[in-house]
Amino acid sequence: MYPKIEISQSKLKHNSKTMCDLFTPRGVSIMGVTKCFCAIPEAAQAMVDGGISMLADSRINNLKRLAEIPVKKVLLRLPMHNEIEDVVRYADYSLNSELSTLKLLGKAAVSLGKVHNIIIMVDLGDLREGVWAEDIDKFTSEAVRISGIKIKGFGANLTCYGGVIPDETNLGNLVKISEKMKEKYNLEIEIVSGGNSSSVYLMSENRFPSGINNLRLGEILLLGRETAYGKVVNGMHRDTFTLKAEIIELKDKPSVPIGNIGMDAFGNIPSHEDRGIIRRGIIAVGRQDIDPDGLFPTDNKIDILGASSDHTILDVTNSSSEYKVGDIVEFHMDYSCLLRASTSEYVDKIMVD
Ligand SMILES: *Cc1c(COP(=O)(O)O)cnc(C)c1O
Repeated sequence: MYPKIEISQSKLKHNSKTMCDLFTPRGVSIMGVTKCFCAIPEAAQAMVDGGISMLADSRINNLKRLAEIPVKKVLLRLPMHNEIEDVVRYADYSLNSELSTLKLLGKAAVSLGKVHNIIIMVDLGDLREGVWAEDIDKFTSEAVRISGIKIKGFGANLTCYGGVIPDETNLGNLVKISEKMKEKYNLEIEIVSGGNSSSVYLMSENRFPSGINNLRLGEILLLGRETAYGKVVNGMHRDTFTLKAEIIELKDKPSVPIGNIGMDAFGNIPSHEDRGIIRRGIIAVGRQDIDPDGLFPTDNKIDILGASSDHTILDVTNSSSEYKVGDIVEFHMDYSCLLRASTSEYVDKIMVD
């Protein structure tokens, strides 16, 4: 069936192992983040085979899919009040920043005969989730009184909303906060989680702050790219995921539309470069399934001209391959395109070696 994504088990394992080899000897554990491939269990298993010791996802539905894999599970997105019981059932840890949610988690844990582990998120300035640093003491003082939960760590998320780059100052602050709270409230701190794929560069530059003992890594394991500066990391595979789509029309036509130009299907006013008559291929995949700006043909002589909901239009004029209708074209993807392709039910997903 097409379109489909092929996921290379060996490349995902290799990327995971490369990161584990870098971080494990320095006492930093890695949570393998599975949300970008909807937690397909075989792909998550490839991460574990590469040495990943915890799996993390933003959605409880995804964590349910991972229940059979015997490693600790972490819920990355702050829990919703309407999913509390499932959080306690399917996640060993959750990231939190709201006392009302902690109270519900505690209550659910008590009634299920469990203790739920909490990582308190601190907002270091990126302005997505997290308790503001000045409010941490008060927050922690109230959180420790809630039964059924145990505070096992502190964490921060950077370079997500605000684009703030992790460094010695902001991550150093997280370490200080964690140590202070540990001391003051006698906490058993296991995890000081210093961010995502944007924190990896600090280790490569030997600037990784001591006291940070965990990262939550998604993109770098999947696409081989650190996300502070967007650099591909040496020895990592960028082509773990391949999108394959079928050509359904192939014709020589002008490069510029004919007639008065209004809006396209998405309300934008299109502009077109005049390349004369070109060979245009339409593949059966569209914005429901991909982000045309994040799609990279493996045949680098192909240009992507645009996409509507269900069609993507290619210029194959300069390609050395003689494409025919029914042929399959291959692409690699960036993070946003991969996320969309993974969540599209119209795209088949298969594991390959
Ligand atoms: C998605 C997510 C991550 C992983 O981010 P990458 O940039 O893919 O490494 C880490 N932490 C949280 C809270 C997330 O939501």
